[in-house]
Amino acid sequence: SKRSLSQEPQHFNETMSKAAVSRLKRENALREALNNDELSLHYQPQLHLISNELIGFEVLLRWHNPYLGEVAPDDFIPIAEENGLIIPIGEWVLRTACLQAKQWIDNGLHLDRIAVNVSIVQFALPDFPKMVQAILTETGLEPEVLELELTESVLMHQVDTAVHTFKQLKIIGVQLAIDDFGTGYSSLNYLKQFPIDRLKIDRSFTSAILSDTNDQAIADAVIAMAGRMNVQVTAEGVESIEQLQFLREAQCDAVQGFHICHPMKVVDAEQYLKALPNR
Ligand code: C2E
Ligand code: CA
Ligand code: CA
Ligand code: CA
Repeated sequence: SKRSLSQEPQHFNETMSKAAVSRLKRENALREALNNDELSLHYQPQLHLISNELIGFEVLLRWHNPYLGEVAPDDFIPIAEENGLIIPIGEWVLRTACLQAKQWIDNGLHLDRIAVNVSIVQFALPDFPKMVQAILTETGLEPEVLELELTESVLMHQVDTAVHTFKQLKIIGVQLAIDDFGTGYSSLNYLKQFPIDRLKIDRSFTSAILSDTNDQAIADAVIAMAGRMNVQVTAEGVESIEQLQFLREAQCDAVQGFHICHPMKVVDAEQYLKALPNR
């Protein structure tokens, strides 16, 4: 009947609504997050595995909303990528991180590098390299201090265009890292076409290297391959001394993870830099 037809969609809406409503709330709140100053950056040290020296900080985005509380990046970045908000947000992250690094360096603190995560949505914009150049010029940060972390998906998506963008970024002088490496195997074939400075072994491998011989073999192979390609390797998600030991024996270059240091808010990151021994 007419009645049941008109009621059915409503019933459907009610049952599907919980997740959809919470997502919609997040999406609406996210639209205002930048204007309302709800975003901030945390900084996590990346250490050289042999010298223990600080290589640099990875910059991690944080969102605190008065109604939603802390929202994790994995719960809002995919939304921001779908609706395009990642473009202004990502630009804000890059500008804020570059300004902060420049300020620390100008204040005499020793910081060689900041690594900023870049979404494939930003990377795919034809003007992306121009935007990076503009922010470097505006903030006065030396290009080699900036490292851009791009996930493997960037490599497999329109390879020719991606190679071209990588080359433009290398001309600007920034460092390029492949993030979450090992999660999308097919890119191994393409890897050699890309001017890459660093590979970051995904946390899923790091967490399994002590227990899973396949993951051990993958980590070993990635480190060996990178060595031949003159690419540095960082293992992320290092949570124990045993993992650190394994990575040291495998001759990994650098490590990052809770065992070394959690991501820190800006005041703590600054204290961290101030406490470093003079070099
Ligand atoms: P990612 O780039 O792989 O960043 C590493 C994530 O692992 C961070 O989570 C970090 O806090 C966490 N982590 C670091 N060490 C450990 C460890 O030892 N154990 C465990 N379990 N986790 C560890 P976070 O900050 O929640 O970020 C999640 C993801 O969100 C990032 O993964 C990145 O893909 C994305 N993201 C964060 N900030 C940005 C940003 O500014 N722009 C873009 N496009 N993406 C971002
Ligand atoms: Ca990253
Ligand atoms: Ca990663
Ligand atoms: Ca990740």
